[in-house]
Amino acid sequence: MTILRPLACLITPVFMLQSALAFAWSDHASLAWPLVRVMPEVQSAKPLSVETLGEFLAAERSSIAELLAKHEQWAGQNLDHYAVLPAELAFDLAATDADLELSFLHAIRVNPTRSYRPYRQLMSFEPLAEQDKPIAVSELTFLQGTIASNDARYVSLASGDLVSATSVLATASDEPDFGLDIGLYADNGTEHGKRYGFGNQPFGNPNLEYGSQAPFHMGFYHLDWLTSAAQPSLLQTYPLCRTELYRKLAVLAFSTGHDYWGWRFMGWGLHYVGDLAQPYHAVPLPDTGIFKSLWIVATGKTGEALQLVSNRHGVIEAFQKAIVANALAQQDWTQSTLHEVAQLRPEAVWAKNTLVQALTLDSASGAAGLDQALIKYAPPKLVSNPDFEFSQSPEEAAILDAIGSQGEHAEKGLTDSLNQQIQRFTFFAQAWIRGILNS
Ligand SMILES: [Zn+2]
Repeated sequence: MTILRPLACLITPVFMLQSALAFAWSDHASLAWPLVRVMPEVQSAKPLSVETLGEFLAAERSSIAELLAKHEQWAGQNLDHYAVLPAELAFDLAATDADLELSFLHAIRVNPTRSYRPYRQLMSFEPLAEQDKPIAVSELTFLQGTIASNDARYVSLASGDLVSATSVLATASDEPDFGLDIGLYADNGTEHGKRYGFGNQPFGNPNLEYGSQAPFHMGFYHLDWLTSAAQPSLLQTYPLCRTELYRKLAVLAFSTGHDYWGWRFMGWGLHYVGDLAQPYHAVPLPDTGIFKSLWIVATGKTGEALQLVSNRHGVIEAFQKAIVANALAQQDWTQSTLHEVAQLRPEAVWAKNTLVQALTLDSASGAAGLDQALIKYAPPKLVSNPDFEFSQSPEEAAILDAIGSQGEHAEKGLTDSLNQQIQRFTFFAQAWIRGILNS
């Protein structure tokens, strides 16, 4: 037991820090859009007629009830740490049309206090058309940090409007970061958290505004035995449960002629695929084996190690966001990251064990290389100085200048490493999309 305890000390605070950065790729829509732009399966889809969630639920209530009951059974049998759905939350077939949406949100246990209205995100190069009705991001999320920092544009959609599959899919792939998975635990201080049956938050800091989504957006399926034994709470994660549910709902929506919701549920699931393609969401401490972890604890360097992981996580996300934003604004499809995300991978297929046995395994195997690239190419202050806080620093706002200050080879080297992560996203995102369309 003595060997387990110090490791537990190390891991717990790691997640308090990491949860502050649980957004993975920033602006998922801007990565998904160039990816699906080249997929014939997506581009050949006819314009979709928008439906509200309530309309979809009212039309298909009995098949949805059946699907949710089967999913609950599947989760109980297949997820080792699944918290069963309290019986009182089961989808209520007999609910009035007005109550149906809330009954569904409770049954799938997402945050019921945000709006699930139809909308779409405009890409930076898309002009606002005359008929477009802009809406503020505050109409889509209650997260104050997102409201303060998000500079994307959104427009409202109404029942019967026509919209492209590309737009619905890309937009929806960012939506889970708008609060769906916030406050779901009993100790999160929310009404729904007390009723949802997930228990107390297993890791992550419940005091941070979006810290409580960490166990839904991170999946540590490949922990070493010692960490698993010392911190079994790290195994209580839900990306597999979420993706499987949204995959089934998308297939049902497509098969019953509700294509708008088919693409939107597909986009929700794509979010988690994207998160897990980022190594910092699949590995607690990249490039740190059991003995190095213990050495860090033994020498009293735990806090320093955590700050470094947090900073490196932040640097790669800020770098990705800036590179992609610049290239997209100019519609520079030859820029290497946009080029990489647009590579067709027809061999990529989604199977029932893909998320655990392929995606997160591959992501975990890329963690050390990404960590080393950050150390090699980013300014030491940003990634090797434990006294520095990267988040909200001037360097975060000017990340390309910061990397550029290390010489031309630095931006190229870090872009190459970023693109290796993007290759993983490209492969598994296409597998995910095709998996649903071919069902
Ligand atoms: Zn996320």
